[in-house]
Formats: sequence, structure tokens, C-alpha cells
Amino acid sequence: MAKQDLMEKIISLAKQRGFIYPGSEMYGGLANSWDYGPLGVELKNNIKSMWWDMFVRRRDDIVGIDAALIMNPKVWEASGHVSEFNDPMVECKKCHSRFRADHLKESKCPQCGGALTSAQQFNMMFRTHLGPVANDDNLVYLRPETAQAIFVDFKNVLQTSRKTVPFGIAQIGKAFRNEITPGNFIFRTREFEQMEIEYFIPAPKNDKDWEQLFKEWVSAMHKWIELVGINPNKVHELEVPKEKLAHYSKKTIDFEFDFPFGKDELYGLAYRTDFDLKTHEKHSGQNTKYRDPVSGEEFWPHVIEPSLGVDRTLLAILCSVYEQDDKREVLHLKPQLAPYKAAVFPLMRNKPELVEKAQNIYHDLRSKYMIAWDDRGNVGKRYYSQDQIGTPYCITIDFDTLDDDTCTIRDRDTMEQERLKVAELEGYLREKLV
Ligand code: ATP
Repeated sequence: MAKQDLMEKIISLAKQRGFIYPGSEMYGGLANSWDYGPLGVELKNNIKSMWWDMFVRRRDDIVGIDAALIMNPKVWEASGHVSEFNDPMVECKKCHSRFRADHLKESKCPQCGGALTSAQQFNMMFRTHLGPVANDDNLVYLRPETAQAIFVDFKNVLQTSRKTVPFGIAQIGKAFRNEITPGNFIFRTREFEQMEIEYFIPAPKNDKDWEQLFKEWVSAMHKWIELVGINPNKVHELEVPKEKLAHYSKKTIDFEFDFPFGKDELYGLAYRTDFDLKTHEKHSGQNTKYRDPVSGEEFWPHVIEPSLGVDRTLLAILCSVYEQDDKREVLHLKPQLAPYKAAVFPLMRNKPELVEKAQNIYHDLRSKYMIAWDDRGNVGKRYYSQDQIGTPYCITIDFDTLDDDTCTIRDRDTMEQERLKVAELEGYLREKLV
């Protein structure tokens, strides 16, 4: 399938089946804003909960927080975002379109070929005012990343969780960036979600100490990529060259993905040294050091930061699992991620005894899992519809069910059907959904 074609198909399926709609559509939309619909929100929640499960629930050394989105503006002065969180912007002198200078291949306007102005630094943080009066004293920012709240809460978490270094703090939440050139569907938007961990490690005695832990995080990222069903052959590590590193970073690896519009950043992994805790101590006057419980030594832990975009994860998953042939359109989603784990069909909708039996099974399963109900059209059409949204199993209740309490379960990927006892259904799904 041609790459651009794939993107168009995904966007169209996303809209048609209620995964993602253009934002504010009835008012003509709002450029590059997208709303997650009933199936999109399920998929997105499943991604977030899988991440939380892998990195927080199943690990002893990582705890979570959910911090306020609007923070004291001094946080952003300390972090360097007020002075450094800039993108170089150029404007076309002819059509006045604006572009991110570092994204342009040519020195002419890509829209009209006009000449461009020289680059000016544009700060990407959204500003607003706290309270009813809009003046400089109550200027605040919408957070451009979730990371800073983790540093600001570091001491509170340390005291209340009794964790010892090395340990991490995780957070999932919205971030806002006034991107100059948003686009490519949900790849680059001005409002998006991040899943970030700040992993605090002892102050390294030499490079080997942090390099080893950094390597462990590289492999954790790959494990995650595999777990969610992103095609690993389309993921490439790019070590950011020294001259392009962010001001806080000593080493950054971008995990790039072959999106249909080209290879671009999916995730980042950065070694941030002790920059953040040290700077927050300097700016706030509060001690941000860690005290080793055994030696009593005080120091600023260093930090390794895996930073993941939720929306880019969702897009990379869709690009990896979408398949179309002349018979069907399928999302081969991992069952744990699929919005519906199974669909229940009565073979015919006009046979009350079938419908009643199917309804009972539907309600039983629904107390445990997201289950779809479909009694429209013929079973073939229902399979088509469930394949399109990635439902891994379809359960059909027919006349034999009434006699022997068995039903047909059909596998989305193999399209094979088997006959199961109704009583076995829940166990069957449980096994597949681990
Ligand atoms: P880019 O170079 O694409 O602008 P970045 O290097 O500025 O991204 P980070 O600051 O490292 O991105 O943010 C961490 C992660 O957050 C990214 O890897 C990406 O998954 C996600 N992300 C960043 N900006 C956006 C955005 N505008 N829309 C959607 N996701 C984003």
C-alpha cells in the first residue's frame, strides 16, 4: 500500500468508526485539533493503562503522581523553558505562512516559493492568567511537558514513599506546545498527552555507571514497543548529535518510527544529569538533595528520562496493525489494547430465544470486559465491522447453543472458528488477555 494511502485510510477509518474526529468540527474545526471518540478513548486508555502496568504497578522501584497542570511560573523559569523552549520560526515574505526553520529543506517558502525572513526564536509555551485580572503578575503557563512536576514533587514523593535511589517517578498527562507547524494527523498537535518517567540514579562516579542504566532503559523502551504491537522493524534509534542536545542533556536517543509521512520521532530517552534538581534548588532555595540512608551522604541524584507521547504511540500502533485486502479491513490490535475484547452476536435478531440467550452471555461477559453487541445484518457483515475496529473475538449464539450450550468463537487474525462451551468463554478470554 502506498504510504500516503495508508495515512488517508487510517484517518478515514478513525473518523468513520469513532476513534478520532476533527476537533470542533461543527464550527468548521480548529486547525490540528482532534477529538478521541468512543473507540479512540478506549484504545488510548488501554495504552496508558498498559504503560502504567508495565512501569508502575509491576515494578517496586517506580511510583506515580498526577500533578497540577498549571504550575507556579517560577518552575518554568528555573527549568529553562521561559528562556530556552524556543523553536526557530521563519515567515514567507509573500504569503506570510510560518514554518519551523529546522524542518525546512529549502530556503524558499514550500507553499508559494517566496523568500523567507531570517529565523526568529519563538517560545512555545501557551500563556494564560490566573484569576480575573489579566496582567503580568498573574501570568501562568500551560505545562509544555509533564516532567517538571516530577522534579518539583521529588522531595514529597521521597518522604512519603520511602523509596531509595535508584527509583523512578512516573506521570501521564496532557502537555501543551504552541507548535509552529503542527500536522500529520495526531503526530504533532498543540495539545497532546505524555507518559514520562524521571528515573533517579546515584551520582555516577564515572560514565560507565550511568551508561549501564541508560542501556537498560533502551531495552525497556524496546520491550514496551513490542508489548504494544508497534512494528519493531520500523523503529530506529538515533543518537542526537552533541551540538543538537537540549541544554540539560548529556545523551539523548530518539526512537524514530517510519510513519507514512516519513521517519520521525516517536519517543525520546535522555540522560539529564543532575541538572533539574540542582537548578530547582538554586531557584527555590529549598534543599532538593537526596540523603543516602546508609552513608548519610547528601547529593543530587542524576536522572534518566524515558519520554513517550501517547498520541504518537497510538498512531504508530495504527500504522503497524492496519491491514486491508479485497475482503476486509483489519486492525490487528493486541487483544489487551482492542477497544472491545469480544463481540456477541445472536445468529438471527428475530428469534427471541436466540436473542435472550445471547443477551445473557453478553451481560455476563460485560461484567468483566468491554464487549460489543451486534445483531444487525448477516454474520459476515458483523465480522467485517468488528475486524475494522480490531475486536479479537466474535461469539455467535445459534440454535445449537440452545440445545447444548456451545457457541462459535471466531479469531480475528486467523479467521478460524471453534466451538466452545458457553461456560468456557470467560476463561478463554482471560487466557488470551494476559
Ligand atoms: P519534536 O522534535 O517532534 O518536536 P521533541 O523532541 O520536542 O519532539 P520531547 O520534548 O522529547 O519532543 O517530548 C517527548 C515526547 O512527547 C515526544 O517523543 C513525542 O512522543 C511527544 N510529543 C512532543 N511534542 C508533541 C506534539 N506536538 N504532539 C504530539 N506529541 C508530541
